[in-house]
Amino acid sequence: MPSEFDIIRQYFISKESRADVILGIGDDAAILKVPKHHELVQSVDTLVAGVHFPLETSPQDIAYKALAVNLSDMAAMGAEPAWFTLAISLPDADEAWLKAFSESLSGLAKEFNVQLVGGDTTNGPLTISITINGFVPVGKSLTRHNAKVTDKVYVSGTLGDAALALMGWQDQCLLQKESLGYLKSRLNRPAAKIELGLLLRDYASSCIDISDGLLADLGHITERSAVGARINFECIPRSEEFNMNLTDEALITPLVLSGGDDYELCFTIPLGKQNEFETIVKEKNISVSCVGEIEETLGVRCIKDNAVIDVREMGYQHFKN
Ligand code: ADP
Ligand code: MG
Repeated sequence: MPSEFDIIRQYFISKESRADVILGIGDDAAILKVPKHHELVQSVDTLVAGVHFPLETSPQDIAYKALAVNLSDMAAMGAEPAWFTLAISLPDADEAWLKAFSESLSGLAKEFNVQLVGGDTTNGPLTISITINGFVPVGKSLTRHNAKVTDKVYVSGTLGDAALALMGWQDQCLLQKESLGYLKSRLNRPAAKIELGLLLRDYASSCIDISDGLLADLGHITERSAVGARINFECIPRSEEFNMNLTDEALITPLVLSGGDDYELCFTIPLGKQNEFETIVKEKNISVSCVGEIEETLGVRCIKDNAVIDVREMGYQHFKN
């Protein structure tokens, strides 16, 4: 049975090192250098087995999602991710599990050029807590509190896929075989929208990542900005795979509006910047859709078939983790 130190040495110390890591894993703390004229942006997210992911989730998917949801927070702030720490609680020292977990974690870390610089390893029910750090030029962070009346509301990618995958997993609906791979990866391997987040520094007035569903998360922007929003259901993008599996409007609507775990970005763009923004995202081949507008009337309204949907009736709590 490997000791705590063996585990750290074998699975968590990386060979590569970023130039801004003065001292990484192995001392009492890491020493890190923030570039000049930048601010440090920091976030932590914890995944508990059986609560945030089903117990049978593979170690590769658990590692991927644990880091990806943290990268998504960096994207939502317009930050360039740099370093992370990992506090992991393990029920036992299962070497095959640790190997699969650490390979998946370091693969994604490499892809985004982020380095594991420390952590804590303990014995207990499987829990993974990652703290991520990134940089933004002073004053350029994206926040939730600056949306203004007449700003346009956008979302990236497509919505509802992760919630549909979860329903399929929980046997609440039968998914078509051809779409299983795509939908599962949408739930287990969310793609952090770092490139979009960096671009939005120059365009967006507010931004959030969608982890609890569009209505709830846009609701955080409107609340913090003391404004309201109106969105058009027909403008909300859905994937082909989503449409292939669902035709029942009574299911589609709550999944798209309130399904969590998509980790797309929701953001607002002032009218004067809209044209330039649309041109540049097209050039860069980044998928975004304008879904509505910021209004004075507080709260979030969704229009479908020329009527306002009563969002309270959609039982969206059901889809929250
Ligand atoms: P301390 O007793 O000073 O807290 P530890 O024995 O917990 O130190 O950890 C030794 C070193 O290993 C520290 O640099 C710590 O950041 C690092 N470390 C511990 N667990 C992990 C982990 N799961 N991932 C990455 N680094 C870790
Ligand atoms: Mg410690």
